[in-house]
Amino acid sequence: MEQKLFIYNTLSRKKEEFTPLTPGRVGMYVCGPTVYGDAHLGHARPAITFDLLFRYLQHLGYKVRYVRNITDVGHLEHDADEGEDKIAKKARLEQLEPMEVAQYYTNRFHAAMQALNVLPPSIEPHASGHIIEQIELVKQILANGFAYESHGSVYFDVEKYNKQHHYGKLSGRNLEDVINNSRELDGVGEKRNQVDFALWKHAQPEHIMRWPSPWGDGFPGWHCECTAMGRKYLGDHFDIHGGGMDLVFPHHECEIAQAVASQGSDMVRYWMHNNMITINGQKMGKSLGNFITLAQFFSGEHESLAQAYSPMTIRFFILQAHYRSTVDFSNEALQASEKGLARLMEGVENLKRVTPSDGEGSVGMAYVDELRAKCYEAMGDDLNSPIVISHLFEACRVVNTIVDKKATIGREALEALSDVFHTFAFDILGLKEEAGNGNAREEAFGQVVDMLLEQRMIAKANKDWATSDKIRDRLAALGFEVKDTKDGFTWRLNK
Ligand code: ZN
Repeated sequence: MEQKLFIYNTLSRKKEEFTPLTPGRVGMYVCGPTVYGDAHLGHARPAITFDLLFRYLQHLGYKVRYVRNITDVGHLEHDADEGEDKIAKKARLEQLEPMEVAQYYTNRFHAAMQALNVLPPSIEPHASGHIIEQIELVKQILANGFAYESHGSVYFDVEKYNKQHHYGKLSGRNLEDVINNSRELDGVGEKRNQVDFALWKHAQPEHIMRWPSPWGDGFPGWHCECTAMGRKYLGDHFDIHGGGMDLVFPHHECEIAQAVASQGSDMVRYWMHNNMITINGQKMGKSLGNFITLAQFFSGEHESLAQAYSPMTIRFFILQAHYRSTVDFSNEALQASEKGLARLMEGVENLKRVTPSDGEGSVGMAYVDELRAKCYEAMGDDLNSPIVISHLFEACRVVNTIVDKKATIGREALEALSDVFHTFAFDILGLKEEAGNGNAREEAFGQVVDMLLEQRMIAKANKDWATSDKIRDRLAALGFEVKDTKDGFTWRLNK
């Protein structure tokens, strides 16, 4: 790996040079979606952020095992109905098997990720398929004395753990802050302390998603799945654990406590978190009416959307901000991204049309080498994708000067420049060319055909039949079907 990679570690609160635990190999775990609803922007950002990391690590030559889970059980929200799993609730309301709900939304999630050109992870384990591993984790924590059983549930003893280890080290809290800020009502009367969290929950008789355990029928606490599955597929110690910033506390804080309480040491070397997305300056939420799914962004069918936005526009928009900055979605911002993406793609297209000059040309290898180095430098600086994009924009400007014959480029430099564009725009940023509406080249093409047909109308008005027929025949030979209408013409391309 000749390129250095520095990443910001949430745990140390500084950028650190990435050094894998095993040379040449990287184990990374990212918290995946909860599958009881359609994928929305909140899913797109971590998926794209860690896709960028996954792509870049592979580009640098690492063999990466990327695990991203599917949360299909045990994810209880604080404001949810006491004890009822969201998937079970949806299944009950829609009279479906809970796994039908989970599968339906998993399929929709996969389709959205594919549209966004997010590479599938190496392993995508389901929480419901790893109940045994989660029960084993709970048993270890109990055996080590950091948990207790109460009314068929098992709780993590935060206070006891905190006497030997620091509970709150990831989120920068101490136990006192956590206690003072806790409004946790779940499990009141069963827990020794309100900050204790559930490792295993006793299932009420009406609870559908339940499994037998040494403590009776129940289901695992949400935090258990990532610790259990991360360990199963990546080992007791692995390199990177990522997710959205909203997961730092309590989810990842609890994961750290579970790992240390069960195996006596930290499991994760680097913790990485992407920042959140707001919509028109507001937090996204179902109750705020600004909850827009990815499918709605792609189709434009939502009252807040002025138009449809292609998946690549969404991807480009997310990459135009550094992953640790907040991103605010608005129609104006997305339209600006759409234009920016078209400009970048036009640069790639223009490059294909450049004829290299004999000899070195005015844009030489030194320019291309510097461009490449600057792009690597930006990626190595905690995945600074907006800077990479700005370097590529600057390169587009240089390409335009070559197209406009104000500059020249030799064959070697042209090939190298094309390689820089492909490597960074396509392989690393994960952009791809999209057909369809809003494509600048196609729009320009249509305008040129219109222009020719307008010339034909002028010729007809002047009774210049030779010119009029010539335009029509030449277009017909190219596959255009032209129809005269009472106020002009229509055309389509038969291909
Ligand atoms: Zn998780």
